[in-house]
Amino acid sequence: MKRRDFISKGLPGFAGTMALSQIGCKGGAYKKAEGEKKYKLVYRTLGKTGIKVPIVSMGSMNVTSEALVRMALDAGISHISTAKYYGRGKVEKFVGKVIKNYRREDIILATGVDPHPPPWKEGFYSKDTDIVRFEKDFDDSLKSMEVDYVDIFYLPNAAKKEAVMFEPLMKVMEKIKKAGKARFLGIGTHSYVPEAVRAAADSDFWDVVMLAYNFQSRDIEERKKAVDYAAEKGMGIVAMKTVTGASFVNTNKQIQVGNPRAALKWVLQNPNIHTTVLGITNFEQLETDLSVMADLTLTDDEKKYLELARLNHKNMLFCQGCGDCLKQCKSAPDIPALMRCYMYAYGYRDLAAAVRNLDPIKEKTVACIECSNCTVNCASGFNIKERIQDIIRLRDFPHEFFV
Ligand code: SF4
Ligand code: SF4
Repeated sequence: MKRRDFISKGLPGFAGTMALSQIGCKGGAYKKAEGEKKYKLVYRTLGKTGIKVPIVSMGSMNVTSEALVRMALDAGISHISTAKYYGRGKVEKFVGKVIKNYRREDIILATGVDPHPPPWKEGFYSKDTDIVRFEKDFDDSLKSMEVDYVDIFYLPNAAKKEAVMFEPLMKVMEKIKKAGKARFLGIGTHSYVPEAVRAAADSDFWDVVMLAYNFQSRDIEERKKAVDYAAEKGMGIVAMKTVTGASFVNTNKQIQVGNPRAALKWVLQNPNIHTTVLGITNFEQLETDLSVMADLTLTDDEKKYLELARLNHKNMLFCQGCGDCLKQCKSAPDIPALMRCYMYAYGYRDLAAAVRNLDPIKEKTVACIECSNCTVNCASGFNIKERIQDIIRLRDFPHEFFV
């Protein structure tokens, strides 16, 4: 469906809503009602936070179109998740500018701030973690978005239990919450996911967990059990990377997206997943994300697609974060993090994110560059050496080239 068709067929009547937005009309409730007339919106409660979230939420890593974000918000996708490091702060500014057109209380706003240095490879923070900078970075995020508070403040990339329970960060986040600058606190996790989710659930500290969760996750049974456990304890559960498993690279390094609708339905069939954060970068995606809520039942074709796609995992972009590779090679860099950079570059086409995530190894020697024969057997069948040698080239480029 082309943009023009989408506007005329998929969201009739939004032109009027947009006109109201543009003359400064605030009032998301009115707009939400408009969206609900066109699409069946489904809500779930985000655990003990009590926040009612649409089961489809908006990730903002690659957003550039104000009209698109407004359409999503007006259609009822009222939960938007961003992060300080997206576009080196520019995305937060952009999000802040868009949501200014709405009543603050009608938007569920989440952001995350990465501590420095990141928990590279070992998955731990250390005495070198810059707590003062972390707090200042969060305050800068609020300023960038021109808001007084966020609804959820995430510690992204928490992996091992020790990172989830790193006291200096917890203390400063608690201080932020008590000051009313964040209503709820959460962790985001890509690696060692079941461990991180269970640690958060046991903590009695964290309110929300955002985890990588899709039909291609090799340890999906463990992830499901951890999600059930956390939901039982009242945690809000947000899934990310839900349709990543439906993306592949072909031999020309071109991205091919399989069936995101099937991938999304599969995730949402789990009632303990309260919402999914999806990158909405074009009108086709928005239409898929809105219409999928009408019926989460997988069709026979969709089931067939999921079965076939599971077999074709070698060329997919999603790293399981299982850490098996790290156990096999003592000289290995943080392979899961580098695989994520690869996904940002080739999957999301976000070179800025890839370059930014290469920062921790900017000055470091990476053994894979000189290694003649990679002996690591990746659980997903990735050619580790080839992907690392490919992506590592980006680390010498200054950030400004890509922002
Ligand atoms: S073994 Fe493969 S899938 Fe697992 S963490 Fe390493 S790169 Fe990712
Ligand atoms: S390329 Fe060599 S150094 Fe890198 S992970 Fe493989 S075996 Fe280890």
